[in-house]
Amino acid sequence: MSYDVQAIRQQFPILNQKIHGRPLVYLDNAATAQKPIAVIDAISDYYLNYNANVHRGVHTLSQRATDAMEAVREDVRAHINAAETAEIIFTRGITDSINTIAFGMGALVKKGQNIVITAVEHHSNIVPWQMLCQRTGAELRHLPMNEHGEVVLDGIEEIIDEHTAMVAFNHISNALGTINPVDAILERAQKVGAWTLVDGAQSGPHAKVDVRAWNVDFFTLSSHKMYGPTGLGVLYGKRERLEALPPYQGGGEMIATVTLEESTYAGLPHKFEAGTPHIEGIIGFGAALKYINEVGIEAIAAHEKELLEYATQECSEIEGFRVIGDAKNKASVLSFVVDGTHPYDLGVLLDQQGVAVRTGQHCTQPIMDAFCIDGTARASFAMYNTKEEIDLFKAALEKAVTMLR
Ligand SMILES: *Cc1c(COP(=O)(O)O)cnc(C)c1O
Repeated sequence: MSYDVQAIRQQFPILNQKIHGRPLVYLDNAATAQKPIAVIDAISDYYLNYNANVHRGVHTLSQRATDAMEAVREDVRAHINAAETAEIIFTRGITDSINTIAFGMGALVKKGQNIVITAVEHHSNIVPWQMLCQRTGAELRHLPMNEHGEVVLDGIEEIIDEHTAMVAFNHISNALGTINPVDAILERAQKVGAWTLVDGAQSGPHAKVDVRAWNVDFFTLSSHKMYGPTGLGVLYGKRERLEALPPYQGGGEMIATVTLEESTYAGLPHKFEAGTPHIEGIIGFGAALKYINEVGIEAIAAHEKELLEYATQECSEIEGFRVIGDAKNKASVLSFVVDGTHPYDLGVLLDQQGVAVRTGQHCTQPIMDAFCIDGTARASFAMYNTKEEIDLFKAALEKAVTMLR
């Protein structure tokens, strides 16, 4: 079956509009993706027909809301091939997921141990570990990056050693699009008995992930990068790891018994879900997952790869255009600078022509520092982008560059 991008676009009404009199070309998908009608309808259906708090009520609406939310937990489990639904925790996003683990590990990690990340991480997979290291005296290390934006594995045996408590890294870089060598890093980490975490912010929309094939301890997804609502994430953890971790936040829903003196905690997954969950978000995310699976993640990835190759090739014809991050193995992100222009100015002039890109550091200042630049402009592709849009993007970029030189 051929990939019908026009049919897909019809599911995203927001795309059909003009910005400054020009057709919108939305290329800021690595920041957040647009939402299909199915997601908007699922949220609307919840508020129109069965809004209620979950898990507490005996009444019918509460039961319906609970069932809808728990059905999504099972869909997520199946999507990433986790062993059981109790290992699927709903969080506020990747940032919240990683803080949950880093906070909990504060009780387990000691001075003399180390945490390993890579040089191509999002701030949300850097700062929580720095905070953990400040609290515990553990050391923060990283696997370095080469000039292509690829993680370098030489020396991995010295960096990940028998004192490594955790190895945490992203599958795909949001700033460069680099696909990291997950298997090789996990293999080394598992050999020394370190815990492992993969940040799947950019895997969710672009790649198939099987957490049991990876045998990874923790994996995290962000709904809003996967065509779902904002403010929602998934934290997968192996049961024995989640049981070993103390809870991050205390409150309702996460307890078994409470007296004024002390409490006992609920079992998984509720131990990590204090307070009323993001019920509408979870239900909307269920619809997003279903839609991704209908289109097919492999088909999406193949379409985006074609777009990335086309855009890279076309834009390289522009004088002074430089790709930042030209890893051999890349997904869906074209980060670039154009000599003699500032990324911010390019972003403004592209917007005036209807083209939405992100400019700046992309929450990855260490990557920008390593390339000795203050930032890039970034075009990032999703299932609904087209070659015609890349032609519009290229023409708009050429015009912007001419105006700025
Ligand atoms: C977007 C992103 C995050 C942060 O995710 P939130 O769910 O918005 O907190 C972390 N890592 C990467 C690689 C990202 O792209």
